[in-house]
Amino acid sequence: MPDVIVVGAGNAALCAALAARERGAEVLVLEKAEFGERGGNTFFSGGGFRFPYNGLEDLRSVIPDLSEEELKRIEVGSYTEADMRADLIRVTEGKADSEMVDHLISEAYSTVRWMHEKHAQRWVLMYGRQAYEVDGKLHFWGGMITEAVGGGEGLSEGLFKATEQAGIEVRYGAKASALLTDEQTGRVTGVRVQTSDAVEAISAGAVILAAGGFEANVEMRTRYLGAGWEFAKVRGTRHNTGEVIRQALEIGAQPYGHWSSGHAVAWDLNAPSTGNRRVGDLYQKHSYPLGLIVNIHGERFVDEGADLRNYTYAKYGREILHQPFGVAFQIFDQQTVSMLRDEYRIREITKGESDTIDGLADTLGIDETGLVSTIESYNAACQSGVFNPAVLDGLSTKGIEPPKSNWALPLNEPPYFGVAVTCGLTFTFGGLRIKAKTSQVVDTEDRPMPGLFAAGELIGGLFYHNYAGGTGLMAGAVFGRSAGYAAAEAVLS
Ligand SMILES: Cc1cc2nc3c(=O)[nH]c(=O)nc-3n(C[C@H](O)[C@H](O)[C@H](O)COP(=O)(O)OP(=O)(O)OC[C@H]3O[C@@H](n4cnc5c(N)ncnc54)[C@H](O)[C@@H]3O)c2cc1C
Repeated sequence: MPDVIVVGAGNAALCAALAARERGAEVLVLEKAEFGERGGNTFFSGGGFRFPYNGLEDLRSVIPDLSEEELKRIEVGSYTEADMRADLIRVTEGKADSEMVDHLISEAYSTVRWMHEKHAQRWVLMYGRQAYEVDGKLHFWGGMITEAVGGGEGLSEGLFKATEQAGIEVRYGAKASALLTDEQTGRVTGVRVQTSDAVEAISAGAVILAAGGFEANVEMRTRYLGAGWEFAKVRGTRHNTGEVIRQALEIGAQPYGHWSSGHAVAWDLNAPSTGNRRVGDLYQKHSYPLGLIVNIHGERFVDEGADLRNYTYAKYGREILHQPFGVAFQIFDQQTVSMLRDEYRIREITKGESDTIDGLADTLGIDETGLVSTIESYNAACQSGVFNPAVLDGLSTKGIEPPKSNWALPLNEPPYFGVAVTCGLTFTFGGLRIKAKTSQVVDTEDRPMPGLFAAGELIGGLFYHNYAGGTGLMAGAVFGRSAGYAAAEAVLS
């Protein structure tokens, strides 16, 4: 019998498994997907991590191979614990659980070092996505400036390799279908597992749940997020269907967090209904702060420049879903086309180009009169100033609704370029309540549930309304590691 069972095999689960093993526990990982689909949303992710750092030296400890040549060309600044706290509180409209935020922030950097030093995870600076060249130097911005080598796939493969090296068994095609409890004490004693041809009860000293959110379950996302969410595309794995959250609620776990909300972005209109492992996160279209977003009538509906991209992208998918037909279009001109992110240069993109605005409208299927009128009013509302995409440059519009608060260059240098997008749901915000420091699940009376721990996207309390890019993986690693240590200690002490 294993000491600890971990349910799921994404970033949170494998960090939990590695931490429990480090404390001496025998660990078994149960993963619903077959081997060829392993890795959960973690595999599909960009691999970006948000953590506080006090300057270049902190980054060099986790990216030791930064060359002298590179160092001369970059400005990384610092991102203090206070900065990260302020960002998490601001984007969640003050609702993020402060104990969870404190634990996340105080453990983030040491967890990144742990992944690097103990488990050979490698990192690079996010040159392509989180830096702009200003005055001959690459200026990093937005708090999240490092990514795993190889992105989400590299992160996932690295974690599986570390898991294998640690002697941890991962069972694929093994779906947790119920949590086992002791009838007398209520203690969680194991997991019922369903494979393609059998059902088995596996006992363990403790169970860590890390099976993701419910975004890929059309019934649950419509029930909790609301009408229309049936039509959202799912950006990642088809296996995050929420049954493990339900299993925990059924035995008395406390629901927590923003159940009617989730992380949702602009996603290619013709992307498949769930993630494609080859294209990964490249269906996303995140360069809208450099242009405009309109609906099918040619009308704007959000402030594209309200904040740095990392602080608006996760809530704008929802706005797109609520537009007619759930469709929107991002429009750029030649002043910014060369600055668009890598995801605008893939084959699988729904795009159009034209020398005129009405020609672009015609190509993309936008109402021509509406789009021409919107661009004319927008151009007339642009104020003069210095454009700098690496900071909130204050280059804004005046007299139009919604405003564009930063980076408001007039759209007047053809050819014009546009892409068609819809809403891509990344993960859901509602989940289980845990104790911040140990990741132990608490029941509806706030009592820690013996033998039950949780981490990753199936916990609630950190994300409300919105999200700061790079926090999902970081939080999964931090709370996963804490869960692993606490579960092992509970069993072995
Ligand atoms: C396209 C995309 C890009 C992203 N980019 C970033 C980024 O750059 N930075 C960032 O911080 N975050 C990013 N995210 C979010 C990030 O992927 C998640 O925050 C993170 O991977 C969640 O990790 P997890 O371990 O909780 O869940 P997952 O990695 O989703 O793992 C959950 C696992 O549980 C398994 N499972 C489900 N049900 C069961 C069951 N009943 N029994 C057994 N196993 C089960 C699933 O098969 C899955 O493997 C991105 C997400 C997507 C989809």
